[in-house]
Amino acid sequence: MKTAPKTALIFGIAGQDGSWLAQLLLEHGYSVHGTSRDREASGFTNLRRLGLFERVRLHSAVLTDFRSVVQVIHEVRPSEIYNLAGQSSVGLSFEQPVETLSSTTLGTVNILEAIRFLGIETRFYNASSSECFGNTEKSAADESHPFHPRSPYGVGKAAAYWAVANYRESYNLFACSGILFNHESPLRPSRYVTQKIVRGAADIAERKTDRLQLGQLAIERDWGWAPEYVDAMWRMLNHDQPEDFVIATGEAHPLEEFVNAAFAYFGLDWRSHVEIDAGLLRPSDITHSVGNPQKAKRLLDWQAETKMPAMVHKLIDAEMERRRSSLAMA
Ligand code: NDP
Repeated sequence: MKTAPKTALIFGIAGQDGSWLAQLLLEHGYSVHGTSRDREASGFTNLRRLGLFERVRLHSAVLTDFRSVVQVIHEVRPSEIYNLAGQSSVGLSFEQPVETLSSTTLGTVNILEAIRFLGIETRFYNASSSECFGNTEKSAADESHPFHPRSPYGVGKAAAYWAVANYRESYNLFACSGILFNHESPLRPSRYVTQKIVRGAADIAERKTDRLQLGQLAIERDWGWAPEYVDAMWRMLNHDQPEDFVIATGEAHPLEEFVNAAFAYFGLDWRSHVEIDAGLLRPSDITHSVGNPQKAKRLLDWQAETKMPAMVHKLIDAEMERRRSSLAMA
């Protein structure tokens, strides 16, 4: 007898991770539903870029509006729910702290409450973040590393993390948080520093400009490849019990190394082109961030394959391909 396909609901399907996750779940035979705050207004460029737009079912839902969250979960009756929505920029969170906190924290609690209210059997993944840890100078952060967030974004993610743990313990929900370190792909918007560097270096190589303004270069981050990280999310919900996991490469690299790799790809010396703009510095920033993904390797059989500098090269290859195809279409 053929079993019905599993149904997944992705809050924030239009984003970077939402689109990669939709691709992965379709490959696994899921029926995939996703939300955007306004389905009619969203261009779903990431889904279109991956050729998935016609293959998923889209709904409008605003995380901070309990009624809309209940309605979409009631309608879809998903066996798995992934919460990837919310204001996701650390930099912007200093300018929009209330919006950031409400979309990440209240949004997560609304989904947890909706699951309880509807009494449905489902598994819930929440997108937590390495930003909860703040600096990890003494040791790579594992699941027991203390939280010390350094931005409104990190504060919101930390509160949401504890809400998920509390609902799991209090109400026996299958709910877990993935504490993901930075992960990149060509679907990242240009306001993120990694895409800014990739596009800036490509513009300089194509002689469209000569300068690139950046903020703090001394920071160190643990960068991975987004399509691999969404696989970890899926593994968490298909593990035999709900647990939280750190997802990272386990390697810290200075931003300067990222910049150097991007410019070197084009045979350029970044020092001749990059200017430090004090206006781009954040009120407080994490200087060193690295994760310990051993638990994910042990229990989920997951580990990062794409690391620095291969990740930078993949980003640039994708950017150059995008430029070639938009030229061909012009
Ligand atoms: P994106 O910003 O690409 O996607 C998030 C989606 O959330 C957007 O597409 C948007 O969808 C929706 N959204 C944006 N702002 C708001 C808001 N104020 N209120 C409600 N919804 C909003 O993020 P990613 O895909 O990169 O990340 C997915 C999740 O993982 C996010 O929660 C992020 O914080 C977290 N995360 C990401 C990391 C990374 O390195 N990428 C690292 C660790 C955690 P729409 O406009 O269609 O409503």
